[in-house]
This record gives sequence, structure tokens and C-alpha cells, in this order.
Amino acid sequence: MAAITYKKTANRIYYSAIIFLLFGSLNAQAKITTCLKELTNNPADTSKYEISDTQKKEIENDLREKMGLASIGFDKHETLIYDKREPAIRGSEKMRELILSAIDDQKNVFLVCNYSGANEVQFAKTDKGWIDVNSRITTYEIMFDFEDFENSRRYTPDVVLESYSLGILLFHEIDHKVSYDPKYPIPPTGVRPDKSSRGVRGVIENTNIVRRELSLVLRNSKRRIAKRYRGANQIFTNTRQITFKGPAGKRNFLRWKLESKRPKMQRADATSRVKLGNV
Ligand SMILES: [Zn+2]
Repeated sequence: MAAITYKKTANRIYYSAIIFLLFGSLNAQAKITTCLKELTNNPADTSKYEISDTQKKEIENDLREKMGLASIGFDKHETLIYDKREPAIRGSEKMRELILSAIDDQKNVFLVCNYSGANEVQFAKTDKGWIDVNSRITTYEIMFDFEDFENSRRYTPDVVLESYSLGILLFHEIDHKVSYDPKYPIPPTGVRPDKSSRGVRGVIENTNIVRRELSLVLRNSKRRIAKRYRGANQIFTNTRQITFKGPAGKRNFLRWKLESKRPKMQRADATSRVKLGNV
């Protein structure tokens, strides 16, 4: 009996070691992580760029729904992981291809950071990235302005909110910087532009492929800058707008107010969250 118990324990230790190794290697490969983890050695106060648990949940839920994978989520190291064995149910193939490749990417790290209330970030924006000279790993900082998402809910129909969501914007930002499809490499400028041009398919068009797979309204790919609302409806005075099109060609708008146009009480210490030196 003792021998069997011993063998069982030994097996348990052996399997635990395997699970630990698997788990460890999963983490080593996972390359979409939040600001907190990577920037803790930074002498600057990085806590203000930290993503809250609620914001993390919002990102996770949107990725799960749009990628058709229940296993994707942040682990205790604040890093996105997923179960490679899980079969996808519905969701967008295009989105899975990019996000899962980014998670498995050995050469690029994507930091997801909180820039809520920052004047220079409208919804999301990514910096130029920095390269570690030893490892040759490039780290990009993806800045999310969660207050813009919040603000847009006041002026925007649900079909558009669903189409301009955190997960879709994560896809959009990564697609600007790195290609995981050899047929559509990043152009020599180092950045994939928003709008398509001869020979280069733009980020908005790529993002629309995801939207089409998910039956979401499509963003106008001809225009990258938001327009000022010029209509007579007072509710929308001082908003900016981006056009989306539904299946029957019906136009819908994403609308929001720039930080400077919001009543003071709606703004949470906006300027203190601006980090200098970003593009
Ligand atoms: Zn863009």
C-alpha cells in the first residue's frame, strides 16, 4: 500500500511539474499584457496607467464573444492567455488569427494601458514602440481612453457601440503595427495606415473584415478623421462623429464629445494622465 501511495504522490508531483512547465511556457509566450506588470521598474508613477478589474473584465468579455473562445482572459500575471485545445464556436476567424498570433508572438509585446481622460487619446492609440537591444523584442504601448467609450454611450446606438468595442479596437491597434499574415505585410513606413491605398490594405478595411464576419455595422473606410457634428439636434451639439453603415446601407454614427467639450464634472483629472512623448 505504502508503495502505491508513494507512487501516486510521485505521479502527482510529476504531473504538477508538467502542468507548471506548460503553464510557465504559456506565460513566457503570452505577449498581450497590462501596463502594470511591465512598467513596475519604471521610476515614474505607473499606477495611473493601470487597468481596473472592471476594465479588464470588459476587454475579456468582448474578446470572448467576438473570438468565439471562452478560455481567453487575463491570468494572475495580468497577461492574456487562452487554451489552445478549445475549439472556437462562432466568432471571427480574422480576429482569432490576429489576437492569438499576438498572444503567441515572440518578438513583440503589447502593453494595454489606461489613459482615461487623456486629451490626446481618442478611444485608443499606440506609441511608436521601443526595442530592447539585447532581446530585440519590441514593446508597444496601447493606450485606451475608457472615458471616451463611456462618453460615446450617451450619443451612440448599440449597433455601433458593439462594432466599435474594446476588442475590435485592440485588433485595430495591433494591426497598425504588426502583420501576422504574410500576404499583407506592414508597409516599409513601419505602420499600416488606416485607409487603404494602392497595394496596401488599410487597418479600417481589415477591421471591417472582422465586422463582416460578426455581422456588425461597417465603419466608413474612406475617412479616418472624425467630423464635427453640424446638424440641428441639440443633443449632439459639440460631438464628433464617425460614420458606420448597416446591411441596408443605413447610416449610423459613433458620437462623442472631446474631453475639452465635456462638462467639468464629467472629467476625471484629465491632464494628469497625459504622458509626454507619445505619437
Ligand atoms: Zn487607426
